[in-house]
Amino acid sequence: MRITGYKSHGVGAAAALVNAVTSRDGDDSDEALRAILGEHGFFVQQFASATADELRPWARTLRSFFEAESLDAAVALLNGLLSDVPMHPHLADHDELGLHVHYAPPEVDLAHRVRATTLMNLAELLCDHGIDRIGVCAAADCDRVYADDSRGGRRRFCSDACANRTNVAAYRARRRQPT
Ligand SMILES: [Zn+2]
Repeated sequence: MRITGYKSHGVGAAAALVNAVTSRDGDDSDEALRAILGEHGFFVQQFASATADELRPWARTLRSFFEAESLDAAVALLNGLLSDVPMHPHLADHDELGLHVHYAPPEVDLAHRVRATTLMNLAELLCDHGIDRIGVCAAADCDRVYADDSRGGRRRFCSDACANRTNVAAYRARRRQPT
Protein backbone atom coordinates (compact mmCIF):
# COMPACT_ATOMS: atom_id res chain seq x y z
CA MET A 1 0.00 0.00 0.00
CA ARG A 2 1.38 3.36 -0.93
CA ILE A 3 0.53 5.94 1.70
CA THR A 4 2.27 8.85 0.06
CA GLY A 5 4.23 9.49 -3.07
CA TYR A 6 6.37 11.99 -1.25
CA LYS A 7 8.35 9.75 1.06
CA SER A 8 11.68 10.30 -0.63
CA HIS A 9 11.01 14.04 -0.84
CA GLY A 10 10.54 14.39 2.91
CA VAL A 11 13.43 12.08 3.76
CA GLY A 12 15.78 13.82 1.35
CA ALA A 13 14.70 17.27 2.49
CA ALA A 14 15.28 16.31 6.13
CA ALA A 15 18.86 15.16 5.50
CA ALA A 16 19.62 18.17 3.29
CA LEU A 17 18.26 20.65 5.86
CA VAL A 18 20.23 19.01 8.67
CA ASN A 19 23.40 19.19 6.59
CA ALA A 20 22.83 22.80 5.55
CA VAL A 21 22.23 23.99 9.11
CA THR A 22 24.43 21.76 11.30
CA SER A 23 27.40 20.50 9.28
CA ARG A 24 30.76 22.30 9.27
CA ASP A 25 30.59 23.14 5.57
CA GLY A 26 26.83 23.74 5.47
CA ASP A 27 25.19 26.82 3.97
CA ASP A 28 22.19 27.79 6.09
CA SER A 29 21.39 31.02 4.25
CA ASP A 30 17.77 31.77 3.38
CA GLU A 31 18.51 31.13 -0.29
CA ALA A 32 20.15 27.76 0.36
CA LEU A 33 17.22 26.56 2.48
CA ARG A 34 14.74 27.75 -0.12
CA ALA A 35 16.65 25.85 -2.81
CA ILE A 36 16.58 22.65 -0.74
CA LEU A 37 12.81 22.83 -0.38
CA GLY A 38 12.37 23.47 -4.08
CA GLU A 39 14.61 20.53 -5.00
CA HIS A 40 12.55 18.22 -2.78
CA GLY A 41 9.14 19.01 -4.20
CA PHE A 42 7.81 21.65 -1.82
CA PHE A 43 5.88 24.58 -3.23
CA VAL A 44 8.17 27.43 -2.23
CA GLN A 45 6.18 30.46 -3.39
CA GLN A 46 5.46 31.30 0.27
CA PHE A 47 9.09 31.05 1.32
CA ALA A 48 10.16 34.00 3.45
CA SER A 49 12.96 34.84 5.84
CA ALA A 50 10.60 33.81 8.66
CA THR A 51 10.36 30.34 7.08
CA ALA A 52 14.14 29.96 7.27
CA ASP A 53 14.09 31.19 10.88
CA GLU A 54 11.70 28.35 11.72
CA LEU A 55 13.53 25.70 9.72
CA ARG A 56 16.96 26.22 11.31
CA PRO A 57 15.87 25.03 14.80
CA TRP A 58 13.89 22.23 13.16
CA ALA A 59 17.03 21.04 11.35
CA ARG A 60 18.99 21.11 14.62
CA THR A 61 16.23 19.02 16.22
CA LEU A 62 16.24 16.48 13.39
CA ARG A 63 20.01 16.06 13.66
CA SER A 64 19.46 14.16 16.94
CA PHE A 65 17.36 11.65 15.01
CA PHE A 66 20.15 10.96 12.50
CA GLU A 67 22.60 10.55 15.40
CA ALA A 68 20.32 8.20 17.40
CA GLU A 69 22.33 5.25 18.67
CA SER A 70 19.48 2.79 19.04
CA LEU A 71 16.07 2.11 17.55
CA ASP A 72 14.48 2.80 20.93
CA ALA A 73 16.13 6.22 21.08
CA ALA A 74 15.03 7.08 17.52
CA VAL A 75 11.46 5.97 18.23
CA ALA A 76 11.31 7.96 21.47
CA LEU A 77 12.60 11.06 19.71
CA LEU A 78 10.09 10.79 16.85
CA ASN A 79 7.20 10.07 19.20
CA GLY A 80 8.03 13.21 21.16
CA LEU A 81 8.08 15.27 17.97
CA LEU A 82 4.91 13.64 16.64
CA SER A 83 3.04 14.81 19.72
CA ASP A 84 4.43 18.35 19.30
CA VAL A 85 3.84 18.86 15.57
CA PRO A 86 0.15 18.96 14.68
CA MET A 87 -0.79 16.82 11.66
CA HIS A 88 -3.58 17.69 9.29
CA PRO A 89 -3.68 14.94 6.66
CA HIS A 90 -5.00 16.12 3.35
CA LEU A 91 -5.74 14.27 0.10
CA ALA A 92 -4.11 15.76 -2.96
CA ASP A 93 -4.22 14.90 -6.65
CA HIS A 94 -2.08 17.47 -8.42
CA ASP A 95 0.37 15.55 -10.58
CA GLU A 96 1.54 12.21 -11.95
CA LEU A 97 1.48 10.58 -8.51
CA GLY A 98 -2.28 10.21 -8.56
CA LEU A 99 -4.29 10.60 -5.39
CA HIS A 100 -2.03 10.71 -2.35
CA VAL A 101 -1.86 11.95 1.23
CA HIS A 102 -0.11 15.12 2.32
CA TYR A 103 0.49 15.60 6.03
CA ALA A 104 -0.52 19.24 5.96
CA PRO A 105 -2.93 21.06 3.67
CA PRO A 106 -1.62 23.62 1.20
CA GLU A 107 -3.05 26.59 3.13
CA VAL A 108 -0.90 26.12 6.24
CA ASP A 109 2.43 27.89 6.34
CA LEU A 110 5.40 26.40 4.55
CA ALA A 111 7.54 25.79 7.65
CA HIS A 112 4.71 23.78 9.18
CA ARG A 113 4.29 21.74 6.00
CA VAL A 114 8.02 20.99 6.01
CA ARG A 115 7.97 19.92 9.67
CA ALA A 116 4.93 17.66 9.19
CA THR A 117 6.23 16.09 5.97
CA THR A 118 9.82 15.49 7.04
CA LEU A 119 8.67 14.07 10.37
CA MET A 120 6.12 11.64 8.87
CA ASN A 121 8.44 10.53 6.08
CA LEU A 122 11.25 9.84 8.59
CA ALA A 123 8.74 7.94 10.75
CA GLU A 124 7.77 5.84 7.71
CA LEU A 125 11.42 5.16 6.89
CA LEU A 126 11.96 3.96 10.47
CA CYS A 127 8.85 1.71 10.33
CA ASP A 128 9.87 0.21 6.99
CA HIS A 129 13.59 -0.27 7.58
CA GLY A 130 14.57 0.34 11.22
CA ILE A 131 17.53 2.47 12.16
CA ASP A 132 20.03 1.11 9.60
CA ARG A 133 18.96 3.59 6.92
CA ILE A 134 20.02 6.73 8.75
CA GLY A 135 23.30 7.92 10.17
CA VAL A 136 26.28 10.25 10.09
CA CYS A 137 28.66 9.90 7.14
CA ALA A 138 31.33 7.22 7.70
CA ALA A 139 34.10 9.34 6.11
CA ALA A 140 36.71 10.35 8.69
CA ASP A 141 36.48 14.09 8.21
CA CYS A 142 32.76 14.51 7.46
CA ASP A 143 29.90 15.35 9.83
CA ARG A 144 27.08 15.29 7.28
CA VAL A 145 24.12 12.95 7.73
CA TYR A 146 22.44 10.62 5.24
CA ALA A 147 19.11 8.84 4.89
CA ASP A 148 18.82 5.90 2.54
CA ASP A 149 15.43 4.97 1.13
CA SER A 150 16.85 3.01 -1.80
CA ARG A 151 15.92 -0.62 -2.37
CA GLY A 152 19.37 -1.96 -1.45
CA GLY A 153 19.86 0.25 1.59
CA ARG A 154 23.64 -0.10 1.90
CA ARG A 155 24.51 3.56 2.12
CA ARG A 156 27.08 4.66 4.73
CA PHE A 157 28.25 7.98 3.28
CA CYS A 158 26.64 11.36 2.69
CA SER A 159 27.85 11.46 -0.93
CA ASP A 160 29.76 9.61 -3.61
CA ALA A 161 32.66 12.00 -3.00
CA CYS A 162 33.00 10.83 0.62
CA ALA A 163 32.61 7.16 -0.34
CA ASN A 164 35.30 7.44 -3.04
CA ARG A 165 37.73 9.35 -0.81
CA THR A 166 37.35 6.73 1.94
CA ASN A 167 37.79 3.82 -0.47
CA VAL A 168 40.93 5.34 -1.96
CA ALA A 169 42.39 5.94 1.52
CA ALA A 170 41.64 2.32 2.50
CA TYR A 171 43.24 1.03 -0.71
CA ARG A 172 46.40 3.08 -0.11
CA ALA A 173 46.56 1.88 3.50
CA ARG A 174 46.37 -1.74 2.33
CA ARG A 175 49.13 -1.14 -0.23
CA ARG A 176 51.41 0.21 2.49
CA GLN A 177 51.08 -3.02 4.49
CA PRO A 178 54.06 -5.37 3.99
CA THR A 179 52.97 -8.52 2.20
ZN1 LIG B 1 30.42 12.72 3.94
